[in-house]
Amino acid sequence: ATAGAARDLRVILAGPRGFCAGVDRAIRVVEEAIRAYGAPVYVRHEIVHNRTVVEELEAKGAIFVEELDEVPADGHVVFSAHGVPKTVPAEAARRNLLYLDATCPLVSKVHREAERHYADGGPESRHILMIGHAGHPEVIGTMGQLPPGAVTLINDAEEARTVQPADPARLAFITQTTLSVDDTAEIVDILRSRFPLIEGPKREDICYATTNRQEAVKAIAPDCDLVIVIGSPNSSNSQRLREVAERSGTKRALLVPKLAALDWSVLEGVRTLGITAGASAPEALVQEMVTALAKSYTLKIEERTVKEENVTFRLPAPLG
Ligand code: SF4
Repeated sequence: ATAGAARDLRVILAGPRGFCAGVDRAIRVVEEAIRAYGAPVYVRHEIVHNRTVVEELEAKGAIFVEELDEVPADGHVVFSAHGVPKTVPAEAARRNLLYLDATCPLVSKVHREAERHYADGGPESRHILMIGHAGHPEVIGTMGQLPPGAVTLINDAEEARTVQPADPARLAFITQTTLSVDDTAEIVDILRSRFPLIEGPKREDICYATTNRQEAVKAIAPDCDLVIVIGSPNSSNSQRLREVAERSGTKRALLVPKLAALDWSVLEGVRTLGITAGASAPEALVQEMVTALAKSYTLKIEERTVKEENVTFRLPAPLG
């Protein structure tokens, strides 16, 4: 910050941004489980991909583990919003662990689609192409609904162009919920033109929250010298927001987990700053950044909302 009169900075806040209904529900599942059963409650994998959320839940009594073998015999365990392969609840049941499933209902919907296409491996069974990113827990969870070999992962357009399924007449596709809408449309077009009989959702399985956040960042990016996406590096939808911003006309787009990680030199020469947040990033992180900016700049803040959201999900049965 310069001495004397503070510089002007125009800030455009994208709306919708931040928490989606699935993330809100997953956090409430952990909080309610701690309230109902007492601490500690174990959580398999980061409940949502955000360090701040994880640390706040740890302070309330959650213990995060990667695998079930880290949960003691009488422990309560919550499965993360991304979903889990079928082997995970099966193993929990085998060990008599009390488990709660915080899988987002919109991810569970894709699980059921996959099972419908697979049709128990019978004569109606279709081989499934899953559009998604290798190694992401949602992809591992969705592919893990079916036996090995039932699903082939398609990471990008190139793989869509080259995949050689055994029976092109008996195919279906599903997608990860947090992909780039535009990239996925391209991949679906390639698959539909190569395999005209492929079955699938009308467009893709990308969820409302991913779609709306990408639309919102597109609406602000052309007016911004810099777009900051508040979100964690392992958050798929946050990464996609950064890419979408960059392709939509801003000079630069950065993923910043929180204020403490902001390199202030990126603001040099910036007159209009766009801010959005991934579906797993708390609004408090946005407000913390705006408050800090207001100490160094004279802010002119604009909220630009492309769509109102009013989606909420009920808690799973034992807590609801
Ligand atoms: Fe559910 Fe979409 Fe949120 Fe993922 S991003 S938790 S699919 S609402």
